[in-house]
Order: sequence, then structure tokens, then C-alpha cells
Amino acid sequence: MPELPQMQALAERLEAVLAGRELERADPLGFSALKTVVPAPDSFVGATVEAVGRIGKYLVLDFGAVGRVLVHLSQAGRVDVEDPPKSTRAKGSVVRFVFSRREADPDAGEVGILVREYGHERKAAWWVLAPGDDGPLGRLGPEPASEEFAELVLHGDDRRRVHTILRDQRTVSGVGRGYADDALWRAQLSPYATLASLDDNARMQLLTAVRDVMAQGVERERTRSGGLSKPKLGDHFDVHARYGTPCPRCGEILRRVSYASHEVAYCPACQTDGKVLADRRMSRLVK
Ligand SMILES: [Zn+2]
Repeated sequence: MPELPQMQALAERLEAVLAGRELERADPLGFSALKTVVPAPDSFVGATVEAVGRIGKYLVLDFGAVGRVLVHLSQAGRVDVEDPPKSTRAKGSVVRFVFSRREADPDAGEVGILVREYGHERKAAWWVLAPGDDGPLGRLGPEPASEEFAELVLHGDDRRRVHTILRDQRTVSGVGRGYADDALWRAQLSPYATLASLDDNARMQLLTAVRDVMAQGVERERTRSGGLSKPKLGDHFDVHARYGTPCPRCGEILRRVSYASHEVAYCPACQTDGKVLADRRMSRLVK
């Protein structure tokens, strides 16, 4: 799933392509992917992209006084940059935005941005927001780099597992399964650690780990070019989805704990004092 680093770097690449262009068309291609009724996408036609940014895991196309368009890629949404725009309706198409040529740059023709969905549940979606309307952004917690998040980690008494807290977008926005795994590994904390149980040192380690993992993730993601294409996004993680391979820190084989919807990767030597946590996949095999 694209998280803060993937979306941040994608926003930067799209801003370089789109800023200063006018929206020519927004073609809804996927059933029920547009989550707003008013304003209509057509009311943004002719408006100029002032900036492309990211809040949480949302891509934000800022049309200034006209409003904003949000895109959320959910589990398996991806973005193609089409230069020139296509008119085909590829499988899994969600929406295609077509932008004008740039007046200042006569060589640059129109470009298209196609959002596609490769998954089956919790699909990619988009929102058209009037000025001042935050839509789903209003439900997001603070960003990992914020003071508010630091306060929560250093002094909060949240009794949930740290992994759960990090993935809860209402508590902190932008972190998903992948970077939650990497942050716990970097902080050398058990996947089962709860925030309330951590001492001051462990809390500081956790805060630093989350911020470092995110910053490093953005740097790694900045090596991509174009949109955010179908190939796996996993090549930029330290331990996430790498169970069965050696820990990059100590060489111990990475393990996993499986849940219905996801699995957590960890290093027993670095994170759980050598203890291998019970895993339902493993016990099924043992039976
Ligand atoms: Zn290790």
C-alpha cells in the first residue's frame, strides 16, 4: 500500500509535470470511486493547478480558489502519467484527468493522469472539494514530523499496541503496515509492545525511528520517476514483507506474525529478546 513516502515523492513528481496547467477533462471511469457529488468535476475545467501536495496518504491537487481534488490509492491503486493522454479505458481504470499544454513551454503538449486499481477491496477513490472543505482530511491525525505526534509518543498513555497506533490514520497520518514494521524494527521494539508500557528511552527511540524511517523512505522514493506504476513497492523496505531473509542489522532470519488482513515482519534477535512469536500460519503447518 502506498504510504507517506510513496505519496510524498509522487506528489513532487506530479507537481513538476502539472503545475501551471489547466484541467481540460476529468473522466470518471470507475464505478463509485468518486466520493463527492458537489462540486461536479466539470466545474474545475479551465482551472489551473497551483500545486500538488500530500496530506496523510492523500494526493492533493490544489486548484487555488476553485478548490481541491483528492486521490487516495488505498491498497493497490496506482498512477500512470500519460504523455500524451490516452483515450483507452484500461482494466481497473478509476479516473483520467487531462491537462492542457503549458503556455510558457510550447514544446510540452497535453498530459493525462490515469488512476488505476489493481486490487479487489478498499479501492482507490477521489474527491472534489470546494474551497474550505477538508472532506476526509478532517479526520486525519497529525503527521509524523509534527510536534503533536511527538507529544503523543513521548507522553501519551494509549494502551494499544504501537503497531496498531501507527497504522491508525486518526492517531497519526501517513504510516501503514510497511513503515510500521520498519519503524518497530528500527526502534528494536516487539510487534506486541504497547505504548503505555514503554519507558522514556524506548519512547524517544520510537519517535526517532518513525521519523527516520519516513525521511529515509521519502529519499528512497525520490529515486523513482514518472507515476507510481504497478510493480511492487516493497523494494524500499528494510524488513516489511522480507520474512525468511536475514535481518539487515544482525543477520538473524526475519519472522512474521500473520493476521487475517496483513502480516507483521520482525527480527527475534533485535526485537523480542530471541523469542519467536506464535504465528497462526506456523501452527497450522505444525498440525
Ligand atoms: Zn536483527
